Amino acid sequence: MATKLADYKAKRDFKRTPEPGAKVPRKGAKAPRFVVQEHHARRLHWDFRLEKDGVLVSWAVPKGVPLDPKTNHLAVHVEDHPLDYIDFHGEIPAGNYGAGKVLIWDHGTYETEKWSDREVMVVLRGKKLKGRYVLFKTNGENWMIHRMDPPQDPGRERMPERIEPMLAKVARKPPIPDDAWGFEFKWDGIRAEAYVDGGIIRLLSRSGENVTARYPEIHPMGRALGSTQVILDGEIVALDDRGRPSFEEIQQRMGLTSESEIRRKMKEVPVTYMLFDVMWQDGHSLLKEPYSGRRKKLEALKLKGASWQTPPYEKGGGPAMLEASRKAGLEGIMAKKLDSPYEPGKRSGAWIKVKNRMGQELVIGGWLEGEGKRRGLPGSLLVGYYDDGEFVYAGKVGTGFTDSMLEKLTALMKPLERKTSRFDRGSPPKGAHFVEPQLVGEFEFVEWTKSGQLRAPAFKGLRTDKPAKEVVRELG
Ligand code: MN
Repeated sequence: MATKLADYKAKRDFKRTPEPGAKVPRKGAKAPRFVVQEHHARRLHWDFRLEKDGVLVSWAVPKGVPLDPKTNHLAVHVEDHPLDYIDFHGEIPAGNYGAGKVLIWDHGTYETEKWSDREVMVVLRGKKLKGRYVLFKTNGENWMIHRMDPPQDPGRERMPERIEPMLAKVARKPPIPDDAWGFEFKWDGIRAEAYVDGGIIRLLSRSGENVTARYPEIHPMGRALGSTQVILDGEIVALDDRGRPSFEEIQQRMGLTSESEIRRKMKEVPVTYMLFDVMWQDGHSLLKEPYSGRRKKLEALKLKGASWQTPPYEKGGGPAMLEASRKAGLEGIMAKKLDSPYEPGKRSGAWIKVKNRMGQELVIGGWLEGEGKRRGLPGSLLVGYYDDGEFVYAGKVGTGFTDSMLEKLTALMKPLERKTSRFDRGSPPKGAHFVEPQLVGEFEFVEWTKSGQLRAPAFKGLRTDKPAKEVVRELG
């Protein structure tokens, strides 16, 4: 503006004429505007634009405008944009330059303190950004953007590298009375925490292992969060053919390391990230916030995408929730004290898990032939446990395994075949094939019947870490 008005200024002495001066904008004239557009292009970035001489002078900032003077961010100088671009938001269609969503992240006015070819110093007056910033050229089109004022939020802290997940105690029934408790469905999958900063996500397992690369379908959640910095807690689940979370299914996604194998399995066994807590947001710890407050903040993030969601929780009504979880074929429920803080790594009793089904290890003592294409092959397993050195028959298990697991079991049982039963007590069904009781599996069931049989048992997986002779009946 100053340069365009140079002639006007040269001809006048503003001490003598009542005409307005060149430096002072006319009364009512607006201060120049700025905009920061969040651009979900192939790579998420923020476009920083200053209104100047009838155009928008522009920089693309991959990590966003820094809120703290301690960190300078790269700002790549890009072509001037027309003034009308200042209001632009919407979708740039696929196939076009910069395809993706554009949001107005912040806008306002600014004041220029210095403007040269290599340095631009401005004071921003935006909705989010307030304070003095300098952009300076480093080489070519690369500039840096630096906040000169103290941090806008003086209490802002650095995001921790890791928060240990909080743990739950087991109970047979939901707590009573339950008006001080919140209830969630319990998801049978893999516990994972998400650390998101500048649109980039990092997933850590319960033990702190970085498992980000293993679940590519969850990565877009980072971008969806834009500039919001968070640490989230949740469970990664895989659904079976009836739409229920299945630990058996998710096991196929665990332990994969090759990228091509991960991509292939991702199509066969897609996962969903079920979010249930937020422990950190935008430079502030939420650990001391009560559960109900954290849930409110979590819900405000509106995290719902193709491969992630935020299932709701209920205040009170534990027994009804448990019944609903049973009908839906879910593992059970979590009860969480509404006023409880997040206690990293602790099993304090503020979180309680109630399972619909009991579970324990049992020893495989034989099998029954299947039907159809499994004729002659195992269709169900005969299982038992040890009591006073005697092998006790507990029932047959015909569900919970995939075809490939049945094949694996068949191969494992083959060398253990024997003519007669090794069960000392109980009566295995007629026509059974018997094996040496050496293989240990994890099983789930509803309860022990009065006659000491498993009700509605299902196979969960093989256990190689437990000797058969140590398998005893655990509960009830
Ligand atoms: Mn852009």
